[in-house]
Amino acid sequence: MEEHIVIIGNGISGITCARHIRKNSNKRITVISGETDHFFSRTALMYVYMGHMKFEHTQPYEKWFWEKNRIDLVRKYVSSINTDTSEVFFEDGNTLSYDKLVIATGSKPNKFGWPGQDLDGVTGMYHKQDLEKIEQYAPDNKTCKRAVIVGGGLIGIELAEMLHSRNIPTTFLVREDSFWDAVLPKGESAMINREITDNHVDLRLGLNLKEINTDENGKVKSITIAETGEEIACDLVGLTAGVAPNINFLKESGIETGRGVKVNRYLETNIPNIYAIGDCAEQNEAIDQRRPIEAVWYTGRMMGETLAQTICDNRVMYKPGHWFNSAKFFDIEYQTYGWVWAQPKDHEARFYWEHEDGKKCIHLNYNKNTLEFLGINNFGIRMRHEFFDKVLTDKKSVEYVLEHLADANFDPEFYKLHEKDIVEKFNLENGTNIQLKKKSWKRIFSKA
Ligand SMILES: Cc1cc2nc3c(=O)[nH]c(=O)nc-3n(C[C@H](O)[C@H](O)[C@H](O)COP(=O)(O)OP(=O)(O)OC[C@H]3O[C@@H](n4cnc5c(N)ncnc54)[C@H](O)[C@@H]3O)c2cc1C
Repeated sequence: MEEHIVIIGNGISGITCARHIRKNSNKRITVISGETDHFFSRTALMYVYMGHMKFEHTQPYEKWFWEKNRIDLVRKYVSSINTDTSEVFFEDGNTLSYDKLVIATGSKPNKFGWPGQDLDGVTGMYHKQDLEKIEQYAPDNKTCKRAVIVGGGLIGIELAEMLHSRNIPTTFLVREDSFWDAVLPKGESAMINREITDNHVDLRLGLNLKEINTDENGKVKSITIAETGEEIACDLVGLTAGVAPNINFLKESGIETGRGVKVNRYLETNIPNIYAIGDCAEQNEAIDQRRPIEAVWYTGRMMGETLAQTICDNRVMYKPGHWFNSAKFFDIEYQTYGWVWAQPKDHEARFYWEHEDGKKCIHLNYNKNTLEFLGINNFGIRMRHEFFDKVLTDKKSVEYVLEHLADANFDPEFYKLHEKDIVEKFNLENGTNIQLKKKSWKRIFSKA
């Protein structure tokens, strides 16, 4: 009999793992999820509300794919696990046995015990059910005269953009003094503050939610701000103050947890034959300078791919490579490669260039002693991932990166206009004489 691999969670990590186990073996595979029947792209949820696509379009695999690839799907919530008998217990009282178990249950929106956080009209923006609630309580600006978003991160700003697309007046309550300033340096954070207010969102910085107030039917009617006592009437409250691993059901299981499910570099838990991947996995020890929990799409995919190898008897260590991330803040695209912390560390030096329109910038981070390039933030400009992956691996200098900006760029028009300006500014500030080189993509990458 083939081994039975049970995967809890049909997000990017669970499904990638299932697909790669199938590529490499004939094992019996079951994927469980309480959220939806089929895998969908969570990052595209906002575009469903904005009318750019239908929900079906967020599902990259046709319905026949699962049967053809012998991946059994179970639409149920798991309530507990018995690791002694190797059984999964469902909320409906049924059970399922496994030989190997993969926990890939993702995240859930944080709630910090605010009074009123469970009222009707209060929602996170994570699961498909959240999107349905937003559609129900904020279909248009007649039903929803104002929305309040609590928590300024990547999901909060997406929700602001969603509501803006339906002209729903929105107040955005952000605890920090500037948007996402624990991650973004001052210049970039200020640029996004401006982008938010330019899009007519009522951005309230440095303020906290005190409570959410109810009407006589148990539906939200307003919120109160802690610092000022101001009451803001609203029909929808979006809670977007970060996410946490979705692992409550593991409490009595004996599987070691911290904030997430504790795993080693092979994504193995403390219990043999049980693994965790994706948003819910917490590395026992952080890898390099990365966080022990990384709630991003591509790392979930990488973990799924890596673990499939191990499950198919080729034990492979998880190696995420150089950090990168991307997002969109209304109309400003953001990419980061390597490390650009909100505050430079002692050995780091910075170079910041911002276009006069206030909607484009680059921020370079490098070692002030060795000049080794450490990372870049790009806002409003797209640069090539492969280029930065290579210069980080090869430990190139900041001067090298500036000389080869033409190789880094995606957008020849942009660089015709600005690359000279960028290099001149660097030379002026640092007393250097860096000269731009012509595009030499082939020369750089033929060696790779
Ligand atoms: C609005 C939004 C925008 C985002 N944008 C980006 C982006 O631009 N770039 C980026 O890198 N990342 C983005 N992310 C984060 C990214 O979507 C996640 O990192 C990724 O989806 C996590 O994948 P996962 O497979 O670990 O978990 P999930 O996608 O959360 O899948 C886990 C599944 O398991 C199910 N589940 C949980 N518990 C149980 C249980 N007990 N029983 C049964 N089923 C259960 C859940 O319902 C869910 O379906 C975004 C997230 C959101 C919400």
